[in-house]
Amino acid sequence: MRDLGELKERVRAFCAERDWDRFHNPKNLAMALSVEASELVELFQWLTEEQSAKLDEKQRGRVAEELADVLWFLVRISDRLGIDLLEAADTKLSQNAKKYPADLVRGDPRKYNEY
Ligand SMILES: [Mg+2]
Repeated sequence: MRDLGELKERVRAFCAERDWDRFHNPKNLAMALSVEASELVELFQWLTEEQSAKLDEKQRGRVAEELADVLWFLVRISDRLGIDLLEAADTKLSQNAKKYPADLVRGDPRKYNEY
């Protein structure tokens, strides 16, 4: 699978086959997305910065699974709301480029309203 459109279609079919559409309202999907993001965070909980950057194969596999879960719900909620995820990301990237001019913020991790 190589693109979000194909993933969206496969997730849509997967859910339709299981009659899950009725559970997949935006509220439930937003909550599920948050849960999956937390499962990702949990994998890094208590690791040092160094450990978090050098995961073993088992840890990496678990991180990949949670990243896939997060993506799955991102794709699902955007589909249910009729939002083009890549278009939204493209718009946000342009907005962030204006908010964080490279010449102004290079090497500075602060939020845009703090400089
Ligand atoms: Mg998960």
